[in-house]
Amino acid sequence: MSSIPLRNIRPILSYYQHIRFFQQPQRYTVTVTDEYRPSTKSRSSIKGVELLRNPALNKGMAFTLEERQHMGIHGLLPPAVVSQDIQALRVMINFHRMNNDLDRYSELMNLSDRNEKLFYRVIADNLEELIPIVYTPTVGLACQKYGLVFKRPRGLFITIHDKGHIYDILTNWTEQHVKAIVVTDGERILGLGDLGAFGMGIPVGKLQLYTAIAGIPPQDCLPIMLDVGTNNEEISSNPLYIGLRQKRVTGKEYDEFIDEFMEAVVQRFGWNCLIQFEDFASQNAYRLLERYQKEYCTFNDDIQGTAAVVLAGLFGALRITGKKLIDNTFLFVGAGQAACGIADLVTHAMIREGASPEEARSKVWMYDVHGLIVDGRPQGDLEGPKAPYVKKGKPIKDLTAVVDYVKPTVLLGASGVARLFHEAVLKKMAIINERPVIFALSNPTSRAECTAEEAYRETDGRCIFASGSPFKPVVYKDKTFHPGQGNNAYIFPAVALATVACAARHVEEDMFLIAAQKLGELVSQEDLDEGRVYPPVPAIHEVTVKIATHLAEHLYQTKKAWNYPEPQNKEEFIRMQLYDTSYEYFGPKTWNWPEQHSSSRTVQSMDENIILDS
Ligand code: NAD
Repeated sequence: MSSIPLRNIRPILSYYQHIRFFQQPQRYTVTVTDEYRPSTKSRSSIKGVELLRNPALNKGMAFTLEERQHMGIHGLLPPAVVSQDIQALRVMINFHRMNNDLDRYSELMNLSDRNEKLFYRVIADNLEELIPIVYTPTVGLACQKYGLVFKRPRGLFITIHDKGHIYDILTNWTEQHVKAIVVTDGERILGLGDLGAFGMGIPVGKLQLYTAIAGIPPQDCLPIMLDVGTNNEEISSNPLYIGLRQKRVTGKEYDEFIDEFMEAVVQRFGWNCLIQFEDFASQNAYRLLERYQKEYCTFNDDIQGTAAVVLAGLFGALRITGKKLIDNTFLFVGAGQAACGIADLVTHAMIREGASPEEARSKVWMYDVHGLIVDGRPQGDLEGPKAPYVKKGKPIKDLTAVVDYVKPTVLLGASGVARLFHEAVLKKMAIINERPVIFALSNPTSRAECTAEEAYRETDGRCIFASGSPFKPVVYKDKTFHPGQGNNAYIFPAVALATVACAARHVEEDMFLIAAQKLGELVSQEDLDEGRVYPPVPAIHEVTVKIATHLAEHLYQTKKAWNYPEPQNKEEFIRMQLYDTSYEYFGPKTWNWPEQHSSSRTVQSMDENIILDS
């Protein structure tokens, strides 16, 4: 889109007004949220040019004449006053004029540096188009080019050389009441490997989704990069690299560093500050989750969030095939943290359906870089989280032969390797199953195990397909298929919203199962008929509120919520806490008194009395 004629702007604006969904928050008497927000007093003390430079407060040309005069910014802006609707329109027109997604990403980040409310308004209004820019797949590209994209810090960088001083660094963050942290050490960014400090794009993007999708206020969120070095020499030798140029620190020193970080967060922001681990390498991700899960308010999105979103997609698929979970055989291609997390939650769900742990595990097969994971295979490598799924069987390497041997009803790719589901594999799935379930989950799009088009074509349009990164609708034999995107964004913002709103102490495994079940239920029959196993992305905010409400009910019911007194209406309680993207009013705060008490009237009456007396 290069230009929009003026006569067309009005209908577009009314469209924008209709699709806005962030409601004006009302005060809710029992929540502690308000007292945590930065006080209006400290905000109102910011005046003059500083107001325009503060992205949390700046409204750009939307400041009214009265506000401009009152706040000492009159003359610093062009004379026209424009509404947020027009500003949002201008952003999107400029956005569409850009030539590539990296430029679009940079443009949006620049906007968030200038005008935070407008940034979130624009994202919230255009979720389907903009989630793939601020998050996967474009954020992956942005991380690879972070040296170019980086303009100003949006979180904290804590290095291994700061060991012993982590608390001091946390006190440098000006927001006093951070409620949610997303932290990475940059070792396994999406499917792209070790990107070191360039990985900061991930916590930043995830927390932007906390706000855009779940309505968690941005001032409550803190992105953190724990820089312990990088083993990626291509990156560290880049003159634009922003992190420590040294090999990764591992072992005891690394563990002590992370321990200190966790303790410092609690000391600085309290025991219920949520810490989401993101894109740590497998060898650390599982270990750290086990170590901190019961002590802190923490979860790992790559393991638990992925597991929940994939399980939800499976629940959706089962509504199409009419089977129960236990009636299926699952083959995971890739046996890393994503695959093992999914396998664990699927097993947990089968046990909840009534299966024994042995029976449930017997339904799950795994295949990794060495081939099928079976006892005594020559390459070994059978330890760690995949251990419960080691089977007795033939050590087969060829994937088509493995599919023939295992006869899976569900094939899931979480290998980070493109095109592993080639023609023969897909055709074999279609021979074995009437409705094969095929999830190619690896990110970014270029690493997906197969494309949506390949999956529908090679299975003659019979497969139920979902992917990790978005694919456009596919037309096959005159039918349009809408591939589902197993985007973690359906789960982690909802889990975070419920945890933060209810002041839960821990993020327990059951929360992910409950979130997955609810997400599976929220897929409409119409969506299923079109081949979608997830609700459409534009509905993600409403879906998130529903999941968070359901989780809040669970947390209060099981006495795991600590925000008291208990709110009666959980959905209203959740909605009260949502960030409002409409602008604050900065004019003088005035109010009226009853007429007989107004000062002019009193003086006038006094005059009358004086005249009468004399
Ligand atoms: P990981 O490094 O922990 O695991 C990768 C696994 O793939 C390992 O078991 C490895 O042996 C296996 N593998 C590598 N090459 C292979 C090959 N040629 N054939 C078979 N297996 C092979 O990585 P991870 O964290 O588990 O992530 C894997 C992928 O899943 C990534 O691309 C990531 O983006 C994706 N992922 C998707 C979602 C989502 O869709 N919601 C969420 C998280 C991760």
